[in-house]
Amino acid sequence: CGIVGYIGDKDAFPILIKGLRRLEYRGYDSAGVALINSSGNLNVYKSKGKVDDLVAFCADKNTTGTVGIAHTRWATHGEPSSVNAHPHYSQSKNLAIIHNGIIENYASLRKKLMEKGITFRSDTDTEVLVQLIEYIQQRKNLDLLTAVQLALHEVIGAYAIALLDKRTPNQIIAARKQSPLVVGIGDNEFFLGSDASPIVEYTDKVVYLEDGNIAVIRKGEDLKVVNIQNRLQN
Ligand code: GLU
Repeated sequence: CGIVGYIGDKDAFPILIKGLRRLEYRGYDSAGVALINSSGNLNVYKSKGKVDDLVAFCADKNTTGTVGIAHTRWATHGEPSSVNAHPHYSQSKNLAIIHNGIIENYASLRKKLMEKGITFRSDTDTEVLVQLIEYIQQRKNLDLLTAVQLALHEVIGAYAIALLDKRTPNQIIAARKQSPLVVGIGDNEFFLGSDASPIVEYTDKVVYLEDGNIAVIRKGEDLKVVNIQNRLQN
């Protein structure tokens, strides 16, 4: 339902929580956050209920880190619960994803991945995405961007996604199809939002991603936007 992301020099957690509050008007049943801290840990915290419940849940947790993604969920597949709330880890817990939209062919993808020995932790269509991306990445020893491109080629449905990989902590990968996604460009920092409302107070340089676009957001580099199809044709 709502997506927020941050990468830069500041503590991500307060920015992400403030961003989630800006998106509360959309309605949601649960909320969560993923952060990569300076020790290289990828921590995921989520809770059923309001953003306030998430903040309370996080009170005694390590919420440090200058890169993170956060989500408010409006359940479509799987009941509202902390387990089904986003972000979702991949099997190895190297990756974490947040997702707006619906993956229509999730049941067949899930079955295929389970036959390959992958264990699912939630009932969501979203978890299929992150498990598929990791499966492709590991099997072919690919970089995250290429794995995302190949995975999205197999997916039918609508999505805006943001993805963290703890092995590449200076990067967020985001993609969209039939669900909006906005990147804000700051001074050596980037913001991500499912609309501009979590971003506008920080920067007026915003890029509205187009359908089929994948944004490679790396600290210290220019924003790179590629197309799923183009890359596959190479
Ligand atoms: N279909 C996903 C789920 O049920 C995402 C829902 C949303 O857009 O919040 O978890």
